[in-house]
Amino acid sequence: MKGREIPLPYSKPSIGDEEISAVIATMRAGHLSAGPQVRVFEEQFAKYIGSSHAIAVNSCTSALEVALAALGVGPGDEVIVPTLTFCATANVVEHLGATPVLVDVDPHLQISPEAVRRAVTRRTRIIMPVHYGGQACDLEAIEQIAEEHQLKVVQDAAHAVGTDYQGRKIGNSSNITAFSFYPSKNMTTGEGGMLTVSDNTLVPRLRQLVTHGIYRSEHCLLERNRFWHYEVIMPGYKANMPEVLAAIGIEQLKKLDGFMQRRRQIATRYNSVFAQLTGIVTPSDLPFRPHGYHLYTLRIAVTGFDRDIFLQRLEKSNITASVHFTPLHRHPYYSRKYQYSAGAFPNADSFCRQIVSLPIYPAMSDDDVEDVIEAVCSALSSLSPAAGAGELAEQRDAADGACSSE
Ligand SMILES: *Cc1c(COP(=O)(O)O)cnc(C)c1O
Repeated sequence: MKGREIPLPYSKPSIGDEEISAVIATMRAGHLSAGPQVRVFEEQFAKYIGSSHAIAVNSCTSALEVALAALGVGPGDEVIVPTLTFCATANVVEHLGATPVLVDVDPHLQISPEAVRRAVTRRTRIIMPVHYGGQACDLEAIEQIAEEHQLKVVQDAAHAVGTDYQGRKIGNSSNITAFSFYPSKNMTTGEGGMLTVSDNTLVPRLRQLVTHGIYRSEHCLLERNRFWHYEVIMPGYKANMPEVLAAIGIEQLKKLDGFMQRRRQIATRYNSVFAQLTGIVTPSDLPFRPHGYHLYTLRIAVTGFDRDIFLQRLEKSNITASVHFTPLHRHPYYSRKYQYSAGAFPNADSFCRQIVSLPIYPAMSDDDVEDVIEAVCSALSSLSPAAGAGELAEQRDAADGACSSE
């Protein structure tokens, strides 16, 4: 195998002249904090999702924290979170003094409704499902459990901008949904995020929380002409999206359907090869839950397979892959604080040694895609127990206990 000469990055945003021109025009207009571009971006995003309201923020992490704060989460409350997620999902619960209750995932790597049901206690206030990899979780089951127990649902849709669920976009059900525009996500504003709500009564409180807890009464603005006056009604956050980022977002949103189409095209090509291989589990494309392919996660269930050596082999072929995620219960902060019992998360514990995220993004060329396929097949064949037994045994000890370095 000759391999490729220039390394293929794990991810790369698709930024075109449209975004660059929009940034320049916005800089020239001189309005750099929240202004007209933010309002346009919010309106167009809400329209795309099919939600009545969207609120632009500076990250998905802020969106999640503001959402929980708006729903009154605080000390003594429990928030149910899947263990196979990015740390932000649980960190925001800690920030508010509440307890993240981690639950296991199902064989599709999505939050397990059965595990959620078992985790509900008298203290549970919120369920925070994650749409892992850009495929919708079993949201109907989650919302059903929430209804039975009078809980609220805050969706971590960081991977699911543009994902379909039962023929609609993710983000128009549940109480609040949080999206991410981090550079690796389905669309980007550099950094940034968005909140969508289905319950309009939450909008004023969310908007206040995003801007310091500031309230401007119509009365002061209009009748007494005290345009400069405001009142702080709670200690809110500084979490609004700046104007330049909204200008990027408006252009990215126009391209989002095309981006999603290209992701799907690449996944289809990957599936056509990898689904033939024994011991390899390709991402599941489920009825009513078509995969959005924010991530393309291979699960390699081959005896003797060492994921970390596999990743090193790919790196040597100039293909950068990644791991999403080390489950939260295996991170020092959470494992020390909560002392989870061994075997509490059997699926996550077994899958976290098998999962590999391959590069998948619209900026990849067809040749890039073929290079990934060639590198994966070659790394897998040389990792068969016969071929790599010595090396595997040697390195397994070093890798034991750690799921990844991410
Ligand atoms: C990226 C990510 C976040 C955080 O998004 P930011 O916009 O970077 O704050 C939250 N949850 C998940 C699952 C993510 O992958």
